[in-house]
Amino acid sequence: MGVTVGKTVFLGRKALKKRDPAVEWLSSLVAPLSPREFLLQQARELLVKSGQLEPPFEPQKALPPSVKGVEKAKISRDGMLVPVEQGFIIKLNSQRPKVRQRFACAHEIGHTFFFDWAGGRPWRPYESLSSYWAEEDLCYEFAEEMLMPQETLEKLIGMIGPPCINNFEGLLNTFQVSSEALTRRIQRLNIWESIMVILIKDDQSSNFLKRRLVRKHKSYKYFRIQWDKLLTKNSSPYIAFRQPGVVKKSVIKAEELFRGGKKNKNWSIESCRFNAKNSAIVVSIITPSEST
Ligand SMILES: [Zn+2]
Repeated sequence: MGVTVGKTVFLGRKALKKRDPAVEWLSSLVAPLSPREFLLQQARELLVKSGQLEPPFEPQKALPPSVKGVEKAKISRDGMLVPVEQGFIIKLNSQRPKVRQRFACAHEIGHTFFFDWAGGRPWRPYESLSSYWAEEDLCYEFAEEMLMPQETLEKLIGMIGPPCINNFEGLLNTFQVSSEALTRRIQRLNIWESIMVILIKDDQSSNFLKRRLVRKHKSYKYFRIQWDKLLTKNSSPYIAFRQPGVVKKSVIKAEELFRGGKKNKNWSIESCRFNAKNSAIVVSIITPSEST
């Protein structure tokens, strides 16, 4: 009965969201907190218990008692959680940059809370296949809270001021995280009123950039970027691409930046190429221009 659209089943006027099994199981354990509230609280408590009050926060020093050890290995993913007797081993990909290993460690700690302990060896007491993404997202947020606690990040951004590459780079160094993790965090908390774009070198043709990710402040949620115009050879990201480490600033007209809508002011765009291990990353931060 009813029509299924995605995961939502419509029965008459009532929309019943299908509950995710992993999240539902954790809810039953941690109520009245929601799984999200519980996980964020755990992240903060682990930091406090480890005596870490200032960034950079080190997940390996904030392990819960359930994690018996952290091993570096050549694995295909960034990190893995391996259940063993009475706990877990976290495996980290030794080939990845330090910042990604740190994030993976925190992320895997998040997964430990989705296991049951009856019997000695941790196991998942629910069918977990369909729940992968809900759990994944919560573990991302857990890792973000451990590495970039909301309170610390908001306080720091309040002190350093507006969105720009210099401040972004300062935050990368302070928190020791990747550009991707920082942009996701800033957007999740809606802290910077900006559009942040990460471009990477195209493997197929090394002179081209391709989109890696875009994070928009909620005010710009529906602004659609004209990529063909933004990525012309004389654009801010490309100029930055050719001169690593130099911040490139320019002004771009709304109609050249966005598709549709009456967005007739100018925008500032700042770009810089950061050289991450094995890849070139260009970060662009786009904000309304003051000189409109
Ligand atoms: Zn995961």
